[in-house]
Amino acid sequence: MSHAVQGLAGLDAETLGMTLDAIREFADQNLQHDRLLELDRTHEFPEETVRSMCSELGVQLLFIPEAYGGMGASAFDVYRVCELMASIDLAVATGVFATFLGSDPILFGGTEEQKARWLGAIAEKGLLMAYGATEPEAGSDLGALRTTATPVTEGGAIVGYKINGAKMWISNGGYADLYSVLALAPGGPTWFVLEKGAPGFGHGIPEDKHGIRASNTAALSFEDVFAPAADVVGLVEGQGLVQAQLVFGYTRLMVAAFGLGAGWAALERAIRYSTTRIQAGGPLSQKQGYTHKLIVPHACRLEAGRAYIEETATRIDLGEGTLNTEGAIAKYLSTEAGNAAADAAIQAHGGYGYVREYMVEKIRRDVRITTIYEGTSEIMEMTIARDRWQAHLKTRGRHYHDEAEALEALHAASPTVGAGIAAAAMHALAELLERARVQRLTRHQHVLFRLGELIARVEGAGALARRADAALGGTLSQKAGGRLDAQGLAAASRVNAREAAATVASEGLRWAIGADGVPPGEREAFERALGVAALRDAQAGLVEDMDWVAAAVYAGVEA
Ligand SMILES: Cc1cc2nc3c(=O)[nH]c(=O)nc-3n(C[C@H](O)[C@H](O)[C@H](O)COP(=O)(O)OP(=O)(O)OC[C@H]3O[C@@H](n4cnc5c(N)ncnc54)[C@H](O)[C@@H]3O)c2cc1C
Repeated sequence: MSHAVQGLAGLDAETLGMTLDAIREFADQNLQHDRLLELDRTHEFPEETVRSMCSELGVQLLFIPEAYGGMGASAFDVYRVCELMASIDLAVATGVFATFLGSDPILFGGTEEQKARWLGAIAEKGLLMAYGATEPEAGSDLGALRTTATPVTEGGAIVGYKINGAKMWISNGGYADLYSVLALAPGGPTWFVLEKGAPGFGHGIPEDKHGIRASNTAALSFEDVFAPAADVVGLVEGQGLVQAQLVFGYTRLMVAAFGLGAGWAALERAIRYSTTRIQAGGPLSQKQGYTHKLIVPHACRLEAGRAYIEETATRIDLGEGTLNTEGAIAKYLSTEAGNAAADAAIQAHGGYGYVREYMVEKIRRDVRITTIYEGTSEIMEMTIARDRWQAHLKTRGRHYHDEAEALEALHAASPTVGAGIAAAAMHALAELLERARVQRLTRHQHVLFRLGELIARVEGAGALARRADAALGGTLSQKAGGRLDAQGLAAASRVNAREAAATVASEGLRWAIGADGVPPGEREAFERALGVAALRDAQAGLVEDMDWVAAAVYAGVEA
């Protein structure tokens, strides 16, 4: 049974806490502010530091099951580690993440013998790995890959494969010891594990990137590189895309955690800065026009991303399956929120934000990658919309009405967490999807993608309401992250639910009418079906709730 569906308890809260502390301590000693800026400036991969994170600190042990010498961390643990690593430095985090990612095809698709061999070696020797899927002509559409694996036979039996082709944008591409490489065998796309230095296997010079400049990204080339038959992951051809799909729920959660960690890291800097920067007679932190634009909305959106990550990680760990769509929603919400937060953090620093010394400028460039790698935001929109569209059709339009009713029940029991507003947004979403079905609006790809965005926002609002309720009731996991107190989280949830409600009302109308799906005579009735008046009225109290969130964000930070 694969790691994904087994159910995973992971580390206990104390061990997770100690692991996070050890990473913080390592960063204090090895990845100080000035060094990080210098690595960024010189575009240098800190190979020794990344390797000692593996050999001394043992970060790679987290994702390797105990049976192969690792610690068997859960998806939840890995999210907390990824969030922390990204808050320190996203380039270094990417170097470590590439090993996580590179070993995933083995973890999810390898035979017992292969897991013992390769995962055991990663655990024991702290090897670096790379994940070679993307090609010059095959990015979002991996099915278009052109790297080939041609069988080499002896006496009629396949003894190995000759690999030919190229990979592009491979993290750790110039430094890894082991590479998972996706190539087209006669039976279909297949993962192979190759070792550094194999004859015919080369890599390009490091890409000169916009951000995560201290990570190494390189092209790979293969000229008749021989891979023994024993190095086919799972020993069966044609499983590559299935195996890649199996890991997406899990790996997208990691990148979601990157967006969350980097976004909060930038926002924290802005929050601290605003308590000391005096303009017009007082600190910026006390100016509502500043906090309610540059800080509060971002804290709310990031926490919605966190709520979605935590729910999805918990469900993966309970063995509910690969949860690819949920991973996509978590990634979309958290990485878009992380980008927006980092951008606002530059604005929040004024001119100081625009220079390198204050770090937010670097975080802004670094976090940009999170909406691109492991599937772009547009591919996330498509994945989300297609899956939930099926749910809408299969339930004859009930899917989001049912979800809304569950939130209404939560609202009855816990009236301060924004669940009622999230429920109204969900009913509206159900009506919007129904209109899209009747008028065949998803034949417009853009409308389908916009639905993906609305679905993510509304589901995020539901997740944050549930999380705020758990925080108020004292039932949040001991391993949960985040720094807002329960009341602050409830206020953040109310703000976030209002935003989802306003967006679904305005954007829903916009695209349904924009795609000629609502004739003039039906517009009022359609607005009533969406509940536009209720979604509008739900905005009452918004500014006061933003005041609450600001108070919670600044609690304990005030200079
Ligand atoms: C720094 C960095 C590190 C990376 N690390 C790795 C790694 O370690 N291993 C690895 O295998 N890959 C890695 N990648 C590759 C990354 O996953 C791809 O760049 C990404 O999946 C997008 O593919 P692409 O670049 O070919 O863009 P394309 O797929 O060509 O997309 C270009 C644009 O078109 C949009 N688009 C694509 N398809 C559609 C569609 N059907 N409908 C509408 N719009 C669409 C996209 O959203 C995007 O906006 C890395 C990339 C970078 C930049």
